[in-house]
Formats: sequence, C-alpha cells, structure tokens
Amino acid sequence: MAAVEMTDAAPRTRAALDFDAIIIGAGISGLYQLLKLRELGLKVKVFERGTGVGGTWYWNRYPGARFDSESWSYGYSFSKELLQEWDWTEHFSPQPETLRYLNYVADKFDLRRDIQFKSRVVAAHFKEATRNWEITLEDGSRHTTRFLITAIGPLSTPTMPRIEGVDTFKGEAFHTATWPHEPVSFEGKRVAVIGTGATGVQTIQEVAKTVGHLTIFQRTPNWCAPLHNSKIDKATMEGIKKRYDEIFARCKETHACFVHTIDPRGTFEVTPEEREAFFEYLYASPGFGIWQGNFKDILTNREANALISDFVARKIRERVKDQAVAEKLIPKNHGFGTRRVPLETKYYEVYNQPNVKLVDIKETPIERITPKGIKTSDTEYEFDMIIYATGFDAITGSFHRIDIRGTDGQTLKDAWKGGPQTFVGVQVAGFPNMFMIMGPHTALGNIPRSIEYNVEWVADLIEYMGEHKLTRADARPESVEAWTENVRAAGAGLLTNEVDSWMTGINSNVEGKQVRTLARYSGSAIAYRAWCDAVAAGGYKEIDLT
Ligand code: NAP
Repeated sequence: MAAVEMTDAAPRTRAALDFDAIIIGAGISGLYQLLKLRELGLKVKVFERGTGVGGTWYWNRYPGARFDSESWSYGYSFSKELLQEWDWTEHFSPQPETLRYLNYVADKFDLRRDIQFKSRVVAAHFKEATRNWEITLEDGSRHTTRFLITAIGPLSTPTMPRIEGVDTFKGEAFHTATWPHEPVSFEGKRVAVIGTGATGVQTIQEVAKTVGHLTIFQRTPNWCAPLHNSKIDKATMEGIKKRYDEIFARCKETHACFVHTIDPRGTFEVTPEEREAFFEYLYASPGFGIWQGNFKDILTNREANALISDFVARKIRERVKDQAVAEKLIPKNHGFGTRRVPLETKYYEVYNQPNVKLVDIKETPIERITPKGIKTSDTEYEFDMIIYATGFDAITGSFHRIDIRGTDGQTLKDAWKGGPQTFVGVQVAGFPNMFMIMGPHTALGNIPRSIEYNVEWVADLIEYMGEHKLTRADARPESVEAWTENVRAAGAGLLTNEVDSWMTGINSNVEGKQVRTLARYSGSAIAYRAWCDAVAAGGYKEIDLT
C-alpha cells in the first residue's frame, strides 16, 4: 500500500488535529489497523485501557482459556514472514501462548510507540464545525482526530449477575474476564462457578483438576462437544508453515472463515447408518466440525436439529455416570448448535468426580450471595471463592460504555435504541468518519479472518479518501437500511435466532437486553465480503464522501 497524501481540505486543517486517526483498543483489530494506517502515512494513536496489548487475550486469563479455532487458522495472515517465524505449540492455543504471540506481533512491527496504555476512552464527540472527532480519556485529557476507529471487540464488557449481595461475599471473587495477573490457587478450596457458557466450561474443567470442592451453578446447560486438542511437534509445524496459503484460502471459502465447512448433504439425504457414522466422525474430530461442518440443514430444519441433538444427548448420558446429573446437563430449551457450542476437554467427566456438585438453579434459584457463600431456595452453600463466568454485555455493550455522539449531538445509544443499525457493520449514519472493526452486523466466525478483512476495507476507504481529497465519510441512511434488511434476510429461518443468547442480543443482567434483537449478521462471510467488495469497486457510492 502506498502512502497517501492526507488532504487539508477540511475546515480544520490536518495540522491543527492531534492525529489523523485514533483507534480505541489494542487487541487483534487495533494492532492490525494501526499497522495498516501507518503504512498509509497517517499519524495514528491507539488508546488502550489495559496495561498491555492483546484485547480479549489480555483480559481473559481465566484458568483453561484457549482457542476453539485451530491456532494455525487464527493467527494473522497478512505477513508471510510472521507466519514463518511463529511456532504454535498446540492445535488450540492456550491463552498465555496467544498473548505471547500478540506481544511478539506488537514488537515485530514496532507498534507500541503509538499505543497509549491505561487510557480508557470515555467520550467521543463529532464536531460538525471542524469536521473532526474529539476523544476524551478517563483522565480528562482530550485528543482530536479526523478518523475514529473502534476496535473494542464484541465481547469485552463483562457483566456480573444481578443477584442481591454480590458485594457482601468475604472470600475471593473473580469474573473470568477480569482475572488477576497473579496465579490463583484452587487447592483445598471450596470453589463456586456461576455460568456454563464457553467460558464457564473451560474454567470448570481446569479448576476441577486441583480444587478441594467445586460447586457449579447452572441456569441453562449448553450443548458442548469435544475439542480434541493436541500438541504440535516441530515437524508438524513445518508442514503447517508450508500449507499456509492453502489454509487461508480454505478459510476464505467457508461460511464462517473456519477450516470447517458446511456439508452439502441434507440430514435426510443419507441413510440412518451413514448419518450416525458421520455424527460419530464429527464427534471424534478436533474443533468446530460438528457445528460448522455438519449437514447443511442442522440449523434450519427442526427435525434435522433434533437428530444431532439426540446424538449429543446420548454422548452426554454415556459420559456422565449419574443419569440424574446427565439429564440436568442436557439442554431442553434449545437444540444443538443454536447457541455458540462450547468445546470441551473432559468437561462432562468432571461431574463424575466425588468433589463436584451441580446445582440446577432453575430448580433451586439463587436468592442471594452472602458473606459466606451462595444462598439458594433450599441451602446456603459456603465457599472460599466464587468465580463468575457470567458473560458479557455483548456487541453493543462496549459502545454504550463510551459517550459517543455524532452530528447534532445524537448519541449512539439513541441511534441504536431499537437495536444496532449499521452499514456493513462498519459505519453508522450520522457518525461520520467513525469506522467499527467487529462492529454489530459484521461477519464474525473465526474472528481474526473477519478482522483482517474489516481492517483492510477501512484502510482502503481511507486511502481512497486521501487520493480523492475527501475528508468526510458518512454512510447514507438508505445504505444502512439496505444492509440492515440484508442482515434480517440472512438470519431468516435460522433456529439460532429463535433462542436467547448474546447472539440474539439477550443478557439477563443488562437493563434493556431482555428482548431479542437483530444483534449480529448471520449470513456467510463470503456473501459479506462480496457485498463490501462491490461497494469498494463501485467507488463507495453507498457512503456520502465529501
Ligand atoms: P455466555 O455464553 O453469555 O455465558 C454466560 C453464562 O452465565 C451462561 O451460562 C448464563 O446462563 C450464565 N449467567 C449469566 N447471568 C447469570 C445469572 N444472573 N445467574 C446465573 N447464571 C447466569 O458467556 P461466556 O461463556 O463468557 O461466552 C461468551 C462468548 O465468548 C462465547 O459464546 C464465545 O463466543 C466467546 N468465547 C470464546 C472462547 C474461545 O474461543 N475459546 C472461550 C470462551 C468464550 P444463561 O445461559 O441461562 O443465560
């Protein structure tokens, strides 16, 4: 990418601004966006609330945190040199290794000099008169910029449960997403875990290895499937390095950018024996294949979904000795894959340990947290530690923690009152020059693949603006409407959208998130990129460029 000349055509000249671009967040998105904009010759600053780079992988240091995507499909693909330099040691990398990787990237590309850590952005206001953004940090300092790029992640604002007495507990208490940097011991301790999503499952199976006694408070069970992680030896890694082009080409061809792709056959197009053998094969294979590489209709056809759900239920019954416990672990209110499938390693076997107890809080609800532990409708449990694996104010939550105001002082919160509305998940009408990486209604899936696409698309748009002496990009309302309609159409008929989860905008702990919304784009990444590519090829007509 050639450096572009940033024009001074705007009422407030470039020289008068502190920066050409401010990026919020130094996670996978922010790091790559910084690099791309630097390549364009822009003066860029990243504000990051943590003390280091890594975003999700900086914050989520909870025990057992690791990829559910194949490591070698998850890393950045933009630098062949980086790909050849970095050795993954496990097929599904544990968090400490991923954090080391992101630090390596930051060092390799000398990114830290433009990142200001311990800097939480509290406000971002568009100034109409001068056509620039004014960013306010928690310390009160203000910074002006032409472009504002949010790289704040869809799952970065943790939520505590709305349970009375949460602050009264006298023992140790942690939310998984704000886990301490120092080692935490579970040995001999009575530990409680609340929450059984992908995070809770990873935490539980790790804590169970050393805990004194573990009690799991489960509100809704999830359909989990085996991860089948293994080490990568030197020779295998060398082989992977030779196949990177092929691996990333494969990710480009699949629905959600994983290496797994939907099987073209329908569930009922094969014999029952073939079907069973295929399910067995998927259950025995590493990664998301059972979810992302299953028959094409398991997430749209109720009968098909019931069959795979029955199959996984049988596996749970086989793996859990106490059948009463097994029944509690089998979801009854949603089918397999209609929520994000947690991948597990001996998760179900944890419930066979004599020092592990499952409490179904739909049967015996939590009444309050007490100084000693957790009081349900029938017992008061005493604990040394409570772990909250209670999830995030997903997708929109992190935006709403910042006072973002566009033209005429309109707040983003107001603009998204009825649910998020965006242009290709990147822009919001009335918020000129604000670009979102992994914003609502963009393609998610194997996240770094989607991030790289988003980042490059934004960099291309900014480059185009520089070349054409344009200083303001504002998505046209009709473009936002068209994209929102496309998001709606892409989600039609998907069983996923009939189920409560963060993917449908639900969080019982957040005011106003009790009604399902069109929270995410559930079409294919291929279709997403085709739409965005067409916008770029057509000279960005969907965006008001002035
Ligand atoms: P989550 O899926 O939203 O799960 C939160 C859990 O806490 C649920 O079991 C929920 O129960 C429970 N909960 C929330 N509030 C509660 C309350 N007041 N009382 C009792 N239980 C309560 O959050 P997560 O597990 O952190 O995962 C979020 C997403 O992060 C995942 O879906 C995934 O996309 C991502 N993630 C990725 C990885 C990876 O790649 N390896 C690992 C972890 C997470 P209900 O279901 O009843 O609401």
